[in-house]
Amino acid sequence: MTPYKLIIFDLDGTLVVDRESSELLPGVLDWFTEHHAQQRIAIATNQGGVGLRYWMEVEKFGRPQKYPTEDRIWSRVDAVQAQLPGGPYPANACFAYQNRKGIWSPTPPDKRGQPEWSPDCRKPAPGMLRRAMTEAEIANPADCLMVGDRVEDQLAAQAAGCAFQWAWEFFGREKPDEAP
Ligand SMILES: [Mg+2]
Repeated sequence: MTPYKLIIFDLDGTLVVDRESSELLPGVLDWFTEHHAQQRIAIATNQGGVGLRYWMEVEKFGRPQKYPTEDRIWSRVDAVQAQLPGGPYPANACFAYQNRKGIWSPTPPDKRGQPEWSPDCRKPAPGMLRRAMTEAEIANPADCLMVGDRVEDQLAAQAAGCAFQWAWEFFGREKPDEAP
């Protein structure tokens, strides 16, 4: 048993190798096998490539085909979930993209108001974590642990008032070279 009522996992670099793959990272299958029956679990993943692709399509720049569609992201999330014992788990994705100048991608007209397209959901903002806690009926954020591999995961946890642990520590992996 962990001391947390809810554990929210980042996806890429935390549960799976990278954005191109749905291969589970070392330690993930073992942890889920051992803990899923006693632990509430959710997933929260930034997938700004979707917003960037849409931006490129409507304003005709770059190579949008390099970036995923919303459907492609959900099918990859499904492929990951299919490998996780006890799944599928509640999964939140954020498609909003912010460029280096701080400008946000436009939202498709038929997606306005959807939490997936809100800038508030993009980690380091806490929106996705708050949504996962609401869905799990967690009133005290200190009862929630965020596990991730990037600084924005850590900052989102801080902003939401959750505990945080690095993915490699949580799953007992060697710290990667590119780790923050
Ligand atoms: Mg990650």
